Amino acid sequence: MNVIEQETSKLIERAQQLEASDIHLHPSESRTNVWLRMQGELVPWITINQGRASKWIAHLKYKAGMDLGERRRPQHGAIQHPLPGKELHIRLSTLPSDGVERLVIRLLPQHEHHPLQKLALFPEDATRLETLLKRPHGLVLFTGPTGSGKTTTMYTLLHHLVTSKLRQVITIEDPIEQTHPLFTQMQVNEHAGLTYESGLKSALRHDPDVLMLGEIRDVNTAAMAVRAAMTGHLVLSTLHTKSAARAVERLCELGIPKSDVLDVTEAVVSQRLVSMKCPYCKDTCHLYCPSRQRLGRRGIYEISHQQDLFTRHHSDQIRRRLYKAAALGYISHAEGGADG
Ligand SMILES: [Zn+2]
Repeated sequence: MNVIEQETSKLIERAQQLEASDIHLHPSESRTNVWLRMQGELVPWITINQGRASKWIAHLKYKAGMDLGERRRPQHGAIQHPLPGKELHIRLSTLPSDGVERLVIRLLPQHEHHPLQKLALFPEDATRLETLLKRPHGLVLFTGPTGSGKTTTMYTLLHHLVTSKLRQVITIEDPIEQTHPLFTQMQVNEHAGLTYESGLKSALRHDPDVLMLGEIRDVNTAAMAVRAAMTGHLVLSTLHTKSAARAVERLCELGIPKSDVLDVTEAVVSQRLVSMKCPYCKDTCHLYCPSRQRLGRRGIYEISHQQDLFTRHHSDQIRRRLYKAAALGYISHAEGGADG
């Protein structure tokens, strides 16, 4: 292993130990700032000189099979990084900015399935989520802002489902964020003709019990997901809406008759992700604080069941639960007061 290879491995492994989701190499005039995204926030980490940063970037681009000579055009690549006992999937993305290339390294740890009880801040939410999985068929939708942990919730629920009783779980995702040995996972690849729609069509011929769609974003996928849910499959997916009422409206906008939407939707789960308050640090938890990783982030959930969807009222349950979490001292008051 040469020096640059050792340094980049160490960089990735150290960031992974700190439970960062991304590493940013952000060159400015003569130095390159290295930032980490931790629990959703960018944190300054180290500073290195420009020459070394260029070598790191070149080495990582080479490993990911990206075009080394191309520095004016954005590029994407992926590498597998072996760690003791597990694999780390890494996605690379370069972006030229004012003549210099910036790199974001996304770390996607594999086979790290949180127990259901660690997902939710309030234990009763975990119990309610578990109950949802007992349905043999129907549509369960997850809504919330980007980065609110919808995908993690779906993975955790599917993992729980498949380890409690063997089921054929097929996922169609863009991208596959975590691989799971017991799921059949399809990566959307529009150039190769694999869309959400065609993937779902193939999945239905493959005798599935449970289907997970990364996203419902077009008319045909919506129609097929609804049909799958009506014909004996449990279908999990996400919608980019803020509330359960909006999720119903969105499916109607995608051409599904409202009666079908209300008939097939078992539940809409809305969620927000909150950082647990550190008992030692005053405001934001310090990068190297030992309790930072232990506390982590938890979900605040609002579960609207089928019968709630008929009433169409905009609930403020998430907001009330955020206040409650702040009042009990689990999260900061700033976080408890801000919805989303
Ligand atoms: Zn702390």
